[in-house]
Amino acid sequence: MNAKAYFGKYGGQFVPETVMSALNELEVAYEKIASSDEFKAELNELLRDYVGRPSPLYHAKRLSEHYGHDIYLKREDLNHTGAHKINNALAQALLAKKMGKKKVLAETGAGQHGVATATAAALLGLECDVYMGECDTKRQALNVYKMQLLGANVVPISDGLGTLKEATTAAIQAWVNEIETRFYVIGSAVGPHPYPKIVRDFQSIIGTEAKAQLDEKGVKADYIIACVGGGSNAIGIFSAFLDDLSVNIIGVEAAGLGIETKYHAATLTKGADGIIHGMKTIVLQDEFGMILPVHSISAGLDYPGVGPEHAHLQDIGRVSYYAVSDDECINALRLLSKLEGIIPAIESSHALAYLDKLCPTLQKRSNIVVNVSGRGDKDMHTIMDYKKGTIYG
Ligand SMILES: *Cc1c(COP(=O)(O)O)cnc(C)c1O
Repeated sequence: MNAKAYFGKYGGQFVPETVMSALNELEVAYEKIASSDEFKAELNELLRDYVGRPSPLYHAKRLSEHYGHDIYLKREDLNHTGAHKINNALAQALLAKKMGKKKVLAETGAGQHGVATATAAALLGLECDVYMGECDTKRQALNVYKMQLLGANVVPISDGLGTLKEATTAAIQAWVNEIETRFYVIGSAVGPHPYPKIVRDFQSIIGTEAKAQLDEKGVKADYIIACVGGGSNAIGIFSAFLDDLSVNIIGVEAAGLGIETKYHAATLTKGADGIIHGMKTIVLQDEFGMILPVHSISAGLDYPGVGPEHAHLQDIGRVSYYAVSDDECINALRLLSKLEGIIPAIESSHALAYLDKLCPTLQKRSNIVVNVSGRGDKDMHTIMDYKKGTIYG
């Protein structure tokens, strides 16, 4: 067993032999290339001049007044393409280029990771294939068009239900078939080792910046809150604060219509140990170990697994995970829009919604940092159409 592949009992490489050689090549290349000064300098320049980093840490005064605590927002919504995903997609695409790969592959469900990868590929002059379930290509026609405009080739997969699961299988198959020339860009802190670590490292810039920005303001964080789908924006901001046990860290999952119903994506709250997408983690499953369907108003949080590091952090009690419902999320989205003039993504609104639960329980005035993982422009139709329960038709 490769100990480096695990976070406690979670993680690992549960993949066929044919995939192992590609993972080994990636691990060696990552350790050599990504730690070099040349790679870091090139990536940092792109993050600054292209993505627009550092993203601000904003003291939300009207929201603070509303809650009676000091709320700071880490503004990943201000990144180029509107979310944190570009940090990782750009870094992996740059790694691919340095490894001499000509083409990047990605799978996408709602299309956000596909758009981020297509953007990075355009910037770096790489070919890009994005695998997408046929059903999803219809539901997310705008993102399909964006990817095509960016020069990517969107490959519709009609197997099964035509959603993310089938697209992922097809993307892995395509990767294995032409392993010499292709690089598989994974969009969250999930999958077999070394992906969860690579994605965490590439997203850790969120936490590193936030920590420096708090220091600069002379503020000591009491709470850090982020939403958790696969867990990349969350582990990105958490990583800088894990060693400081005086900081309370909270991850927020999607409770959909409620964790007592079948319609949720609260993996860490309701799941059990299992294997999904090449990793051992917590999985939403029935009593026979079959993976359950997930439901959330937010496409980005709609995942029946979770990154293995989060499963571990929950296991050792370092991070607490809760779930908030669609309704609570929409209320939080409305509140931030009205009080601060910031329309957050519905994913990020789950983290914001937890303020309603946390703030009334706090004895003394606290400093709370919320990671605003993305902006809400992509969600306008979902919000306009939202009536409790009607999105599951
Ligand atoms: C994709 C997405 C998420 C969920 O992904 P994580 O890997 O859990 O961060 C959260 N917020 C936004 C805005 C997203 O696009």
